[in-house]
Amino acid sequence: MDREVFLGTHRRALAEFADMSVRAGRPEHVQGGGGNTSVKLPGGLMAIKASGFRLDDITPRRGYALMHHAPVAAFYEETDPAALGDDAEARGAGVAKAHTVTLEGAEPLRPSVEAGAHALLDAYVVHTHTVYANLACCAQQPEEILREALAGVPYCFVPYVDPGARLSFAIHRAITQNPEGRFLIFLQNHGLIASGATAPEALQRHKTACAALKEWFRAPDYPVVSLRAEGEALHHSATPFLAAHRENYGRARLMESCLYPDQLVYLAHQSEEVLTGVYRMGRTEALALEELLTAVIYLYETAGARGVRLVSMSDAAKHFIDNWESEAYRKSVAREAREDRP
Ligand SMILES: [Zn+2]
Repeated sequence: MDREVFLGTHRRALAEFADMSVRAGRPEHVQGGGGNTSVKLPGGLMAIKASGFRLDDITPRRGYALMHHAPVAAFYEETDPAALGDDAEARGAGVAKAHTVTLEGAEPLRPSVEAGAHALLDAYVVHTHTVYANLACCAQQPEEILREALAGVPYCFVPYVDPGARLSFAIHRAITQNPEGRFLIFLQNHGLIASGATAPEALQRHKTACAALKEWFRAPDYPVVSLRAEGEALHHSATPFLAAHRENYGRARLMESCLYPDQLVYLAHQSEEVLTGVYRMGRTEALALEELLTAVIYLYETAGARGVRLVSMSDAAKHFIDNWESEAYRKSVAREAREDRP
């Protein structure tokens, strides 16, 4: 299909999707290129954030890939993951690739690695690494906190599993066992997925969950994140919250132990200089690091004040992310994307 015809046909839904993505793309909800959103359009295509883009990059015209969602969902619904063994990730990636569509006149983009989970859920899906959900999801006793904070609200909780195909299988299992909870899914050491028949419905569920957890943790308002540029390839931290707290946090908590995958993806292999707030890189990458550092320190500070202990990802989980080709792709696109920013 021609790109302009497609954009005209789906103008309203794509505008809702872009608006939802920008609203979900605030730094307390996603850091750097993390998180992803999608919409299922009449006719069978799903628009989903493309790898390497930020949520606030999405417009009705750019920042997303297109795929046929029904065959992707069918793969997760009809396949026994145990039968795939070590091939699960490769097979899931293959299915996503096989059903990705590039319109005439559009640049080919890769769908978010979490496309499988989106295909299984309602029309509008918001997946974030919001600090409010992660206060509970990274806690030592996540289920106890969620039970108390979200009393009366149906939700699913998915224990930690590697992102990608294995996570999509785990989400399929969770929503099959607990269909009422399918609209609000908490992912241990990872984040939150909210969905709905409309964009406002998905956003409202996300907001309700965040508000309940913010209240349970008596969490302070999220700090304003800012950077100061000194030329194109040198940026300085300008977030007062980081200035006030960074001296209590060193390499061990920020770069070696990881609360959730993005922390590892963005911070683990950086020079220690970034912990002092000096970023020798372009704005997109520097901003991702400033957002990550703010989120991680906010999590530790807020949980600590409430007497909740946070636990980091296991070595096996970190090893998977470190060797995951898709994440390397995401980072490389995030770096390229800054070149064509207006
Ligand atoms: Zn995620």
